[in-house]
Amino acid sequence: MFQKAISQYLAKHHYSSIQLRSVLFDMDGVLFNSMPYHADAWHKVMVARGLHLSKEEAYLHEGRTGAGTINIVCRRQCGREATPEEIEAIYNEKTIEFNKHPLAERMSGAWEVLKKVKEAEIVPTVVTGSGQSTLLNRLEENFPGMFRPELMVTAFDVKYGKPHPEPYLMALEKGGLKANEAIVVENAPLGVESGVAAGIFTIAVNTGPLDPQVLLDAGANLLFPSMQSFCDAWDKLAIALKR
Ligand code: CA
Repeated sequence: MFQKAISQYLAKHHYSSIQLRSVLFDMDGVLFNSMPYHADAWHKVMVARGLHLSKEEAYLHEGRTGAGTINIVCRRQCGREATPEEIEAIYNEKTIEFNKHPLAERMSGAWEVLKKVKEAEIVPTVVTGSGQSTLLNRLEENFPGMFRPELMVTAFDVKYGKPHPEPYLMALEKGGLKANEAIVVENAPLGVESGVAAGIFTIAVNTGPLDPQVLLDAGANLLFPSMQSFCDAWDKLAIALKR
């Protein structure tokens, strides 16, 4: 069932096979169930300023920089770019609002699939636009021994961020990988676009409220309805990727 998607990817990029050495995991909405809190925080902060950003729209902007999201709302409602002061203030308010929520829990199925990846001697790593120190610090706590910090890509490493291919290209560079030696696991349309633009086989897991078609339209090579279903499919997928 995965062979068709893999064949299409190989034909598009003129590779003869995927030589899987690393799985590049996005963090929010993939490893942690933190997106409901981010969406809620964005919504509340905008409402408090007389601006409108629905929770669902926040999911569509996931992965964008804070400044990028704020500018989209500001252009739409105020007909101009946000000032640097507004961006800083709104983003600070959003961070404060986010931190009022309890710590996000591990996404169901995430730990289990990571163990399978590691057992197959494939290197799991994290590629995130997040600079939330609370979450970054919690990676080791929640996924002990899973990730090597020197291979991770975070908001502190990148200039452009998703949907630009830069974060995933940087992950390839850090890992000494070619594009056909990794796969990407993403939950957001902009994250999927980033993985696809980097030339990597990109798996979408629809862990939020989005219409799954949005993720396919972003270019996802495969789509699963949850991390648990991705985990359940891992053994068969790993075999298909080795062919
Ligand atoms: Ca995400």
